[in-house]
Amino acid sequence: MECATGSNLWLSSFCISSSSSRRAPLNGNACSASFCPKTHKLSPSSSLRVEAVGSTPTAANLSPDSNPVARPGSKVSVANPVSKSIEWPSPVDATPFWKREFPSSDVNFEVPSNTEKDPDSLHIIHVTAEMAPIAKVGGLGDVVTGLARACLSRGHTVDIMLPFYECIQKEQISELTLITSYGSFHDGNWVPTNAYRGTVSGIPVIFIEPSNHFFKGQSVYGGSYDETEAYLFFSRACLEWMQVTLVQPDIIHVHEWQTGGLPLLYWDMYHNLSLKKPRITLTIHNMEHYGECRQEQLDKCGLDGSIYATEEKAVDDRTVGHNPERLSLLKGGIVYSNSILTVSPTYLKETLCSGWLASTLLRHRDKYVGILNGIDTDMWNPATDIFLPAKFNAKDLEGKKLCKYYVQKGLGLDLKGDSIIKGDNTIDASVKVPLVVCITRLVAQKGLHLITHAIKRVEELMIVLGKAPDRRVESEFKYLADLHNQGPSVRILLIYSEELSHMLYAAADMVLVPSMYEPCGLAQMIGMRYGAVPIVRKTGGLADTVFDMDNQSNREMANGFVFEGIDEGSLNWALDRAFSYYRENPSVWAGTVRKVMEIDNSWNNTAGKYIDVYNSVRVR
Ligand code: ADP
Repeated sequence: MECATGSNLWLSSFCISSSSSRRAPLNGNACSASFCPKTHKLSPSSSLRVEAVGSTPTAANLSPDSNPVARPGSKVSVANPVSKSIEWPSPVDATPFWKREFPSSDVNFEVPSNTEKDPDSLHIIHVTAEMAPIAKVGGLGDVVTGLARACLSRGHTVDIMLPFYECIQKEQISELTLITSYGSFHDGNWVPTNAYRGTVSGIPVIFIEPSNHFFKGQSVYGGSYDETEAYLFFSRACLEWMQVTLVQPDIIHVHEWQTGGLPLLYWDMYHNLSLKKPRITLTIHNMEHYGECRQEQLDKCGLDGSIYATEEKAVDDRTVGHNPERLSLLKGGIVYSNSILTVSPTYLKETLCSGWLASTLLRHRDKYVGILNGIDTDMWNPATDIFLPAKFNAKDLEGKKLCKYYVQKGLGLDLKGDSIIKGDNTIDASVKVPLVVCITRLVAQKGLHLITHAIKRVEELMIVLGKAPDRRVESEFKYLADLHNQGPSVRILLIYSEELSHMLYAAADMVLVPSMYEPCGLAQMIGMRYGAVPIVRKTGGLADTVFDMDNQSNREMANGFVFEGIDEGSLNWALDRAFSYYRENPSVWAGTVRKVMEIDNSWNNTAGKYIDVYNSVRVR
């Protein structure tokens, strides 16, 4: 179905999904095309340079005096020169504003070179299912890219090995070159496989491309192939590549269940062949998926599955006594890796106390460490972000107001007198209506009932940007989108868009993360970097990064609103307090915005802890 121009039809969830699916890789958990958008030109009637609010856009609007809403005396000067060239969007634009053309200068961010170098350099190879921005579904992609860049800038040699998903757009990779053609084993055959080398965001990446059907499809996950077998193949193909090329890193860093089979393959197969030097580090980003695996699936990658069906090795304890018993690739990875990390100190404690893997983790406690994730502060930087209509920083927040106004206009949200742009590029910010933003995968872990509750309850402004992998959840949110998206205060956008996520963080006054559990959480950290005050449930990494404004015993750290219960009342309590601070304590609020922007959640702060772990297991 075409989205009609001249109406705001694209705001209906159906239309959004249909238009986004036409734009190949920017959908759902598809590979993000964020740094190389190929968009249509804006129709001249759909964009305005400067426009008064609440009136037909005519030349008369260009005069500040003609604006019927702006009040003299309440204006704030906009210092941001960028505002002069802002093309204000509208919901009737043929092309939604987040699909406009952006400067493509930073397809590949240079790795910062001015960081102090570590004395003892390591070679680290990440073997991963995700990498931002080219194959990102959630935080895993961000973390791999951010950590790799931080280690590179500290003087280490880092490579990332990634499946060459069909959905990755090759033009997003610079210097893409075929480097090795070899065979890797699967189900009794040697599958012809190509390895390509390229650079993404300043990081050398090796793409593994089997000649079979693995990793084909329009999204990172959910292709029509057996994912367990595909990732076992990938794990072996990475080791096989190291073997045939004689590359022996100090550390092979695997992530999640997808590459949990690699440590088994390494210690029981490749270490007995020619790979002697590498040691294995596993990061558990989320314990939700265990990599359930049948013995025959493990057989197919060349291991004898029956050997691993013991409690000490990889049997899925929940299936003991069942026929057949299953294996867990994540558990195998925990047992066989030299060091295990998880993504926050609180999540480490939580995983040792609950869940069926707790006993395995306790058995391996001495090699299990919790290190808080960082964010890549070059890629997430409101002062330079190419997706923002106006830049800003903690000392000059005018650009943030423009970003909010831009998003409000672009989505057709009620301006409620807030942030009115006048003809002389000044902004009237006298009437304050807070904007709450929630950017998330729409899965149970993220507190769906609380997100739904907030949508129904918030009378201010709220935007949800989310993608639901589950059809039932998707249709629930579609229903809500149809109900609210034509109204004045709520927008629910059921798409994946890296570009829009940057704009929404910049526009937000508050970022909502009401997760049931959250291993680390990046949304609250990115939100803070963009001056959005977090409202979070106290769990996992959220508990390690957000501290309540009303906790008198910890005023120094106070940076947001925290609630503990999983009920609607608990969320209401946090929302009410946030709204009342925003409205009634503007100076405290402004101070908090500046404070959260200045918190250092960068990888510089935490990459050193990863290096310590690598050094503790490396072979010298
Ligand atoms: P998780 O890894 O569980 O998804 P995190 O908070 O660790 O959660 O990381 C989520 C990352 O994915 C953040 O960078 C967030 O901005 C991004 N993200 C989630 N949903 C979307 C979406 N629909 N569009 C764009 N980015 C999204």
